Amino acid sequence: MESSVRRLAVLLCGYEFIPHSVSYHGGGQRFWHAVPVCCYLMDTEMGYVVVEGGLDERKLRDAGARQRYFPQRPGYPTPLVTSEHELLPQLAAMDVHPEMVTHVVLTHLHADHTGHTLAFPEASVHVQQKEWEYARQLTPAEGFIPEEFSVPADRLALHEGDWTLMPGVELLFTPGHTPGHQSVRVALQDGRQFLLVGDVVDDRRNMAENILPGGMTDPTQARASMERIRQIMDGGATGIFLHDAQQIQEIPLAPEWL
Ligand SMILES: [Zn+2]
Ligand SMILES: [Zn+2]
Repeated sequence: MESSVRRLAVLLCGYEFIPHSVSYHGGGQRFWHAVPVCCYLMDTEMGYVVVEGGLDERKLRDAGARQRYFPQRPGYPTPLVTSEHELLPQLAAMDVHPEMVTHVVLTHLHADHTGHTLAFPEASVHVQQKEWEYARQLTPAEGFIPEEFSVPADRLALHEGDWTLMPGVELLFTPGHTPGHQSVRVALQDGRQFLLVGDVVDDRRNMAENILPGGMTDPTQARASMERIRQIMDGGATGIFLHDAQQIQEIPLAPEWL
């Protein structure tokens, strides 16, 4: 199969400490877990592609900014981004500098996915139209930081439904967690296939036990999107889960490539 994608890397960009109710529908508030926040890098014939913007560590380290940008969960610990987790230094260690990134794809616009969206001055930023319309009205108290995705109009690409970024990179409209969520199906030149699930579900337990995610704007859509990703994985794509505390410890991470 023709593909423009030479390599794919997973970058561990921080952690969030959340109750099971956030990851698993009906999961309750007794048990908590620390889940990773990931970004992805693709080395393609059309430049470097970054998927997800992660968390902005600057907003977490300054007390005033933290209060202003992460007030949405009273009593919750704020997310953690250590120096080892920072996105831009991890990219630099792979010799990828911001101006070399040609495309940024966001699965959705929650604040743990948008932190560094504006860090890539040459990149087109790709979002679903429905997500854009929904999220740009919302506030940090609702889990969104619109200023992080206030992309100049000439670099913003809004999409409706499934679309193809380049040979080997297909975006699948997978709403339900949010109204305009999309997942990324990647076919590498060596024939391996991956599905960057985004937040359709948090981890492999959702899939194994058929548990919907905790956070949903539409349970019917969320169920359909979960079934869609299951079919794609059954068809031979390896699912990469963005908030999976176990899988992140089992797969090669940047600066290694998958
Ligand atoms: Zn989310
Ligand atoms: Zn998330």
